[in-house]
Amino acid sequence: MPATATATIAQTVVTTETASEAATASEGVLRADNTTAETEHRPLPSPRELLSELPLGATARETVRRGRAEVRAALRGDDPRPVVVVGPCSLHDRDGALEYADRLAAARRRLQDRLCIVMRAYLEKPRTTIGWRGMVYDPYMDGSLDMAAGLRMARALLSDICERGVPVATEVLDPATPAYYTDLLSFASIGARTAESQPHRALASGLPLPVGVKNGTQGQPQTAVDALVSAREPHSYLGIDPEGRCCMVRTAGNRDGVLILRGGRATGPNYDAASVAEAAARLSDVDLNAAVLVDCSHANSGYDPARQADICREVLRQRRAAGSAARGVLLESNLVPGKQSLPADLHLLKARGEALSLRYGVSVTDACLGWEETESLLEEMAAAA
Ligand code: PEP
Ligand code: MN
Repeated sequence: MPATATATIAQTVVTTETASEAATASEGVLRADNTTAETEHRPLPSPRELLSELPLGATARETVRRGRAEVRAALRGDDPRPVVVVGPCSLHDRDGALEYADRLAAARRRLQDRLCIVMRAYLEKPRTTIGWRGMVYDPYMDGSLDMAAGLRMARALLSDICERGVPVATEVLDPATPAYYTDLLSFASIGARTAESQPHRALASGLPLPVGVKNGTQGQPQTAVDALVSAREPHSYLGIDPEGRCCMVRTAGNRDGVLILRGGRATGPNYDAASVAEAAARLSDVDLNAAVLVDCSHANSGYDPARQADICREVLRQRRAAGSAARGVLLESNLVPGKQSLPADLHLLKARGEALSLRYGVSVTDACLGWEETESLLEEMAAAA
């Protein structure tokens, strides 16, 4: 390295708080350990600690065992029931989530001969730019980002839903978080924004449960096909072990993948029979199970929850045709229809002496169907399935 370059780097390394206080990452003023004054490393409990604090109960264990087996069989075409992943876009409030789970548990028991129902229990939210990241990251919704509390709340909530006999699905976003609650999941999803990401494909390859991969944000199904080809193979990636130590995780490969069509910016909706058949053909071409789930929300509904029911009906119609690859649907639903916006400056509310006031049972991320409409849609699906 030339002497001048060495000198430049040496000048940016500061060791006193005062000098580094004014630093930002982009200015590149570094501490001796190559972090800036703003960088923080907050300890978290290890997965083993959290699992022993909140162990998997006998009912939850059975819910998960059956949930995984039923979804797997439905995706393989061995169980004729459609898979219905239904629930809030994100869970932010324990009471509302458990009330939803209680209602869904009753509907699930009533319709179990006709529908394979799994509750959406999404705890990590991908964002197009910025915004609240979900219960795991900011459980108190005030920018305090108490991830230790978030992981604990998330595990407790998933466990309480499974104890009600309702299997759960979640999106896996950070490659390390599943270590805290994989044992409670019956289905996992890789979102549209991360379907192209190598760490997420590697993560999917090691999950002992069926995994759905969304088409890319532009609507392209090939992103998901490539992800599923990758995820069926063994991988190694940087993750954490049960003690929370950084480690290399080696995976066995996951053959229980499914492609999720969610529409996209370039393609628009892609839930029609031709799009489903095209996605299925792409899967067959690379020797993957030709199984497709249709996400009735997001770019398929244009984020208008009122359109979800018609999309769902269309998927059921498709399923009546011989050879359809449509194995089920995803629906975004909450106790109360619609959504409410969170302030962009959540982290400043406390300092201003303001409290966050939220309407109970209303989504804080994507707009949802309300419970009554959801329940009658489930009844209609069961009658038609
Ligand atoms: C979601 O499931 O709420 C979500 C963000 O989905 P997508 O990855 O399809 O945008
Ligand atoms: Mn959503």
